[in-house]
Amino acid sequence: MAKNSILLLRNYMQYALNLHTKTYCTKTPPHYDIIIVGGGMVGTTLACTLGKNSKLSDHRILLLESGTPHNWIKTEKYSNRVSALNLNTYNLMNKIGAWKHIAEIRCSSVKNMQIWDAISDVMISFNHEEVSNVAAHIVENDLLIYAVGKELCCLKNVEVKNQVKIKEFVLPQQPSQNVFVHLNEGETFTCNLLLGCDGAQSQVRNAMGVNYISWKYDQMGVVATLKLSEANENVTAWQRFLPTGPIAILPLKNNLSSLVWATTPDHARALIELKEVDFVDKINDALWKPLDNSSIIQESTKAFNKLLEFFELPTSNEKQLPPKVIGVDPGSTAAFPLGFGHATNYVKQGVALVGDAAHRVHPLAGQGVNLGFGDVSTLNKILGEAVYSGRSLGQITDLQEYETLRQRHNFPTMVAIDGLHKLYNTEFPPIVLLRSLGLQFTHALNPLKKAIINQAAR
Ligand SMILES: Cc1cc2nc3c(=O)[nH]c(=O)nc-3n(C[C@H](O)[C@H](O)[C@H](O)COP(=O)(O)OP(=O)(O)OC[C@H]3O[C@@H](n4cnc5c(N)ncnc54)[C@H](O)[C@@H]3O)c2cc1C
Repeated sequence: MAKNSILLLRNYMQYALNLHTKTYCTKTPPHYDIIIVGGGMVGTTLACTLGKNSKLSDHRILLLESGTPHNWIKTEKYSNRVSALNLNTYNLMNKIGAWKHIAEIRCSSVKNMQIWDAISDVMISFNHEEVSNVAAHIVENDLLIYAVGKELCCLKNVEVKNQVKIKEFVLPQQPSQNVFVHLNEGETFTCNLLLGCDGAQSQVRNAMGVNYISWKYDQMGVVATLKLSEANENVTAWQRFLPTGPIAILPLKNNLSSLVWATTPDHARALIELKEVDFVDKINDALWKPLDNSSIIQESTKAFNKLLEFFELPTSNEKQLPPKVIGVDPGSTAAFPLGFGHATNYVKQGVALVGDAAHRVHPLAGQGVNLGFGDVSTLNKILGEAVYSGRSLGQITDLQEYETLRQRHNFPTMVAIDGLHKLYNTEFPPIVLLRSLGLQFTHALNPLKKAIINQAAR
């Protein structure tokens, strides 16, 4: 009781101080322990995870989202925005009770992956028997938010406000101060800890004034729902690296897959304007059509395969053929800009960035939102422990621990993804040869493949 009165008084004094320079309404603003800005996949999951954390059960959480409430209705039609979720994400979804809703509705399992170089035709494959039971699950983004939302709406300590427009954040200058969140409509909230899950254009990150290293890839991601010719068991994710960017098809169900095709902006714009039959031809060409390749590359990769055969190691001769595409679900084609972004700091006193607000990667490795869910798990653990140890939320030492742990994982992953993008974005024969030999070598060595999959699953 006494703690609450002190808190209210402190709030009021800080609020009155803010009024010196700005004019907002004069009531003491409602106070929350945590305010999360952004109710995308990461923000919604963070709200649910923190809300379910028994160590934080007497803490009030507010989730602010600028969009309308999610109203997912099951239709036969699949969404064109899907994510490949790794094992860690699957475990998190299970822990917060959302996976059962996803599994009840629909998702697919990726048991095999085949990735190959369009120029040299060298490939690497991951088979579920060699590496793990399931490499990834493919889930529609909207369905994931719906499933998490189903758990979130039962939590008494979490409130959600949609269609909010945030005017400004006033961040603490000293450890004892609160964060102020002023909405356009004149409403104000205060909190001990502000969590920015507001995506790549984060307003929270701007308010923090942290350094943000970013660039645009000269590529857009074309997405669509594809109809396949054969209704065979569809459990393989295919990715072919073309000189203009990678094309990937991810299984949805036996005769449906989801397309993610990264290509030049002009090509992307041309593709989405095409008639269905022409678009289908372009997709099949991108998956199947052989490209010219220099004889040196051909001879060298052949010779390396022979060497691998001699040692009875797997070679890239065992390449499987991808499925044939016969149609595109009407209205499912769209294109999204692709970019890289890294906030050099994820935290400041009383505030932290989570998900795409902190880091943005090329989708070629299907890691973007998985990194965000990794942030959620780590932050949840650290905040729970802080409160359990009697510390207040938002202390910089706890937040710095979150930053260190996550940057230690996220940054090398981001550099590796960007490196892969650069490595495959060239037709320069010596580079093509080197990357092809590297791929053959990796494919031949199961422990190396296991290490790659384990890293991608974290
Ligand atoms: C083509 C493509 C394919 C991809 N495939 C994969 C994949 O297979 N696997 C994978 O792991 N990742 C993938 N990604 C990446 C993944 O989509 C992103 O990492 C993920 O969407 C980020 O989620 P987020 O919640 O952090 O941010 P966002 O999805 O950007 O959500 C931010 C939310 O905040 C809200 N918001 C923004 N500003 C404010 C504000 N000021 N106030 C209140 N609310 C606000 C927005 O309305 C939105 O709901 C892919 C990306 C692309 C483009």
